[in-house]
Amino acid sequence: MTTILARRSEEARSKGTALIRQADRLLGESWNEKMWADGGPIDPSPTIDQAINGGFPRLEIECARCKTRRDVDLATLPHPSTTFVHDLASRLRCSRCAKAGRRSPATLLQLAQRPSHASPEA
Ligand SMILES: [Zn+2]
Repeated sequence: MTTILARRSEEARSKGTALIRQADRLLGESWNEKMWADGGPIDPSPTIDQAINGGFPRLEIECARCKTRRDVDLATLPHPSTTFVHDLASRLRCSRCAKAGRRSPATLLQLAQRPSHASPEA
């Protein structure tokens, strides 16, 4: 009996994990659609955790000032994984502008499944 219950627990948990992953993927997809259609509002957005779990390990951003595009690996960010993606807009700096002594916010473009281009500065 204990074994059966333990197995059922495992099954329920793995189903739950799959459902959460599906929910996270849908959350990422719906956020992307909002970005593509209207460019925002960026809030609400998935957390870093949810984006990665949903199959979107990368975030494409653009510097609001110099328009340099960057592909950020969410897993390597120093921010807590519970940080909302939209909160990154003010926290991710453009290294090009930083060198010029300016600090400008990032425009969030979309969550991405794979790197679209190399980003040595991410
Ligand atoms: Zn810049």
